[in-house]
Order: sequence, then structure tokens, then C-alpha cells
Amino acid sequence: SRKPLIAGNWKMNGVLIDACNLAAGIAAACRGVSDRDVLLAPPFTVLSEVAHTIGDAPIILAGQNVCWEGKGAFTGEISPVMLRDAGATATLVGHSERRQIFGETDELINRRLKGALDFGLLAILCIGETLYQREKSQTFAVLEEQIRKGLADIAADRMGRVAIAYEPVWAIGTGKTASNDQAQEAHAFIRTLLADLFEKDIAAQTRILYGGSVKPTTIDELMAQPDIDGALVGGAALDVDTFGRIIHFT
Ligand code: 13P
Repeated sequence: SRKPLIAGNWKMNGVLIDACNLAAGIAAACRGVSDRDVLLAPPFTVLSEVAHTIGDAPIILAGQNVCWEGKGAFTGEISPVMLRDAGATATLVGHSERRQIFGETDELINRRLKGALDFGLLAILCIGETLYQREKSQTFAVLEEQIRKGLADIAADRMGRVAIAYEPVWAIGTGKTASNDQAQEAHAFIRTLLADLFEKDIAAQTRILYGGSVKPTTIDELMAQPDIDGALVGGAALDVDTFGRIIHFT
């Protein structure tokens, strides 16, 4: 059985005071929560203060991206060592905004993922098709390529620290959620692929999150799907009450 994981991706939002207020509110909302994991991915600049603010609340802190090297001449990058130093134990990689706006390729994302694992972080590999690809019936081919290349050369025994986030690009920030059936179908496809690439047990243990306009009104039904193990929430993660309601899905 897979423990649900509700993750908030703050994207490029949150100057220090707002970030700390939000984190404090979410920490309060998480008090006593143990049957599900809660993860926050704030901007790098506020990570350590957010870590401070949440104290010993049951929240996993994550970066939104990571480099594969511990240190060195990589201007503009943040290393896994730095993430850990700031209080994070996890990171996103391959978010569609990294792919689409900043041109990150599956090969680059695979290096980032391996770097995260090398330095002991939990990694959430984000994948998802564009509207164009869905309309051309390329969804499964795209997901397969992103999974195969993203997880290339990852040993099976490291998959315990990998989660997948299925985020259809057309559902991100648009208010258009994938239907429960569309999401479940994609998640089941991803799980079958993981069974092919690794083995059945690993596929059965890997958490697959859904992302794309998740709201308090849609979370319950999404979480009721057999292959949806959590959510990666953007806009709705920036408001304490809204994200609190998503955390407490039934
Ligand atoms: P929204 O929830 O704002 O659609 O964003 C989803 C997302 O990209 C989370 O990583």
C-alpha cells in the first residue's frame, strides 16, 4: 500500500514574509497528520527560513530543481548538498515549466534525477503531454519516452526514493483538470511501464501523483482512483485554507 503524498509546488512565488506565513499556516494544518505525507517545494531563496518556520511539523521540504554535482562551476544552479544544507530532503525534477520555458531535455532531467539520488534526496520526476500531443493521440508515446529517458540507468534499488508526477501540460494553471478517467488511465499506463522497466513490486510501490489544477473540489475523486497516490498542487497550494483542505482529502 502506498502512502498518499500531497505536494505543494510554489513555483516562482513567495518573498520571505509571505513564504513564512504560508509555511506556518500549513505546518499548523499538518499537526497530527500521519496517514499521508505532505511536501512543500518553495523557491530556493526561502528554503532555509521555511525549514525554520515549520520546525518539527511533519512536512517534507523540497527544491523545485537540482543540479547533479555537489559543487563547482555551474552558475545559476543549486546543488543537492545545498538543498540538504537548507533543510530539504527532496526535489522536483523535469517540471513541464523547466522543459517548456527553459528547454530542459529528458537527458538533462535524467542527470538531475541521478544527482538527487546520489546525494540521498527523494526525487519527484514530473512528466506530461501537451494539448497538441494529446490531440494527436501521442499521450502514451510521450509519457513512455519521458519515463524511459528520465529513469535511464536508475538502479531498481533506488526506486524507493523516486515518485512520478503526471502533469498534463494542458491542465496546468488552466483550471482544466484531467477527468478522473483520463488521469487514472495515464497513471495505470505509467505503472505498467514501471513494471516493464523494473519489476512488479517496484511498480506497485512507486507513488504516482497527479498534477494540474487540483482543487479542494476535485481532490477526493482523484484520490479515489486506484493508481492515483497523491497530488502535485500549484496555484491551490499558495493559500493556507485551500491547501489545507486538499491535505485533508477524504
Ligand atoms: P496548478 O495546480 O496551478 O495547475 O499547477 C500544477 C503544477 O504545475 C504543479 O507542479
